[in-house]
Order: sequence, then C-alpha cells, then structure tokens
Amino acid sequence: MKKWIDNIRRVEPYVPGEQPSDADVIKLNTNENPYPPAPEVLETAKNTDMGLLRLYPDPTASKLTDALADMHGVKSAQIFPGVGSDDVLSMIFLTFFNSDKPVLFPDITYSFYSVWADVYRIPYERPALDCDFRIRARDYYRENGGVVIANPNAPTSIYEGLDFIEDILRHNGDSVVVVDEAYIDFAEGPSALELLPEYDNLIVVRTFSKSRSMAGLRIGYAVAGEELIKALNDVKYSVNSYTLNRPSIELGAVAARCGDYYDGITRKVVATRERAAKELEKLGFECLPSGANFLFARHGKVSGRQIFGELREAGIYVRHFDAPRIDDFLRITVGTDEQMDRLIDFLKRYS
Ligand SMILES: *Cc1c(COP(=O)(O)O)cnc(C)c1O
Repeated sequence: MKKWIDNIRRVEPYVPGEQPSDADVIKLNTNENPYPPAPEVLETAKNTDMGLLRLYPDPTASKLTDALADMHGVKSAQIFPGVGSDDVLSMIFLTFFNSDKPVLFPDITYSFYSVWADVYRIPYERPALDCDFRIRARDYYRENGGVVIANPNAPTSIYEGLDFIEDILRHNGDSVVVVDEAYIDFAEGPSALELLPEYDNLIVVRTFSKSRSMAGLRIGYAVAGEELIKALNDVKYSVNSYTLNRPSIELGAVAARCGDYYDGITRKVVATRERAAKELEKLGFECLPSGANFLFARHGKVSGRQIFGELREAGIYVRHFDAPRIDDFLRITVGTDEQMDRLIDFLKRYS
C-alpha cells in the first residue's frame, strides 16, 4: 500500500477556459481584450534587454507599484502586485481568512473563490443571488470571516453602484471586505477605490488581463490601506519573494501610464457590447445588463449546452457553465465588431 496517498491534499481544481492553438478560432471564451497592448508597451518590449533575464527581478516590483500608485493617486505602500489577480486573490484568502466563521461570497460568482477556500481549508457560505441574478446586500449583514464581492460580478456581468458596496462595508466593520474589480473599467459607474480613505478593512483587486490587454503577462494587484498591504507582503515573502518577472514589471509600468490608449479601446469594447446585446435580443436571446467586457445571454427556446456545442463545432468558442440556474446561459466575451458579426450570423439559425 502506498501510505503517502492518504497525505495528498485533495482538491477539486478550477477549470480555466480553453486556449486553442488553432489561430482560426474566434475566441470569445476567456474575456481577453481583442485589441493589442498600447503601442508604447510594444515598443518597450522590442527594446527590452533580455540579457538581464539572468538576474532575479526586483522583489518589490517598485517600478510597477510606483506607476500603479500614480495611476490611482495612492501611495506605493498601498499597492500589492501579483502574478495576475488570481495570485493576489489567493494571497488574500491565505492572509486574511483565518477565522472559524465562514467567508461569504455569492453562489454564482467567480468560481475560483470556492477553490481557494477549499485548498486553504477556509469555511465558506454562498448566499444565493436573487431571481434577477443580483447580489442581495442583506445576505452579508451577518457575522462572517470575510466577504468577497466581484463587481461587476462574473459570470453575470452585472455592476452594482457604490451605495451597494458601502452598505456591505458598513455592516462588516469586523471583517476584511474584498471587492474584485476585474471588469470595472467596462462598467458605467465608479470604483470602490473611492471608498478606501474611509474603510481600512477594504481591499480592491484589479487586473491588467482584461481592460489592459495583457492577459499573457499575468499582472494583477490589490489596493488597500497600508496595514492590509503589509500583511499581504509578509505572507508573500513567506511563500515566494520573486513573483513578478522582469518583463511584467517593465511592460506593466509602461501600460499603467498609457491611460488614453486604454480608455479608447475600452470605449470601443463597450460600444460593441451594446450593439451585440441588441442584435442578440433580436434573435431571441436575453442578455443580463452588462457592465463588463462580456455578455451573459440565454436563448428563450434552445439550451445553452446545445448552442455552446454547435458554436464550438463552427470554431466559435464561448464559455458555458454546467451549474444550477445558469446552465442555459452562454458567457460571450465581447470581441471586435467583425468577430461579433460572425457570431451573430451563426446564431441567426436559432431565431
Ligand atoms: C479574469 C478574472 C480574474 C483573474 O484575472 P487574472 O488574469 O488572474 O488577473 C479575477 N477575478 C475575476 C472576477 C475575473 O473575471
């Protein structure tokens, strides 16, 4: 008998979206940006001295944290950078959720939250979204070991205003409240960053994977008061001190200073989203109101599984979740206008 088998940490892993090698696939399945990084980023990449890769990177990634601090008008000591926001969120779960009380997050939200809670043995409860797929603030009024809210939520795409976030903060003075703003740049409303001066238990998590067109570099970060950031760094330096690699630090710092370019492509994605939502509705789909770079849509008559499979056959990849209440929905990343036209053309067969 292999005794060591009993000592393996058993977990049900997160399943990431497919990354097909076939370049002809219309890839609307992982919420990447259809537009390239800023020209300044590409130029810097060309001129980067790869000989320096023999050296470890700056463990503090100060060039990047300084640029992010300028971008948000906060101190560098209020920024915790990581290898994508997945790394940052994982460190947040490990650092702040050490209570016997359950951490709270919605039943339908980013499915990685429950995976981190499981792998770190953190108790959690998942209050149900209401019948319109919205988070009910009052479900988060009870005692807990922490709160995690994605805003806009994924995969529902729905954005809640600051009053909603502040309501949750006001009822959770004794917990760390995490607001995952992976999609906030596509929302028509303010960020919870505005609330940071008033709430020292708030952490806002951001990523360069979606609105900054840099999913391939893996850059994410948390913004919070200095006390929470210090706690995160203490844990990080107890796990892996050199997290961000040299190219990510260099190119991320440049991207943080190219706001105008990214505002431009974000406006394009939002315009395409609004047009695509109207077209889909004409074809018999219902789209939840989106504040993100994706649409969460279901057809009135044909099952989500069927449409997902037939799209895939046709080389159009979207995401489908085999979960209660949402298995008739497709999560469709907003691509270029041309990609969305190809999708909509295909979907005409269901109208
Ligand atoms: C995409 C996403 C992330 C992770 O992004 P990274 O690529 O790891 O930065 C985190 N939270 C939500 C809600 C997301 O959709």
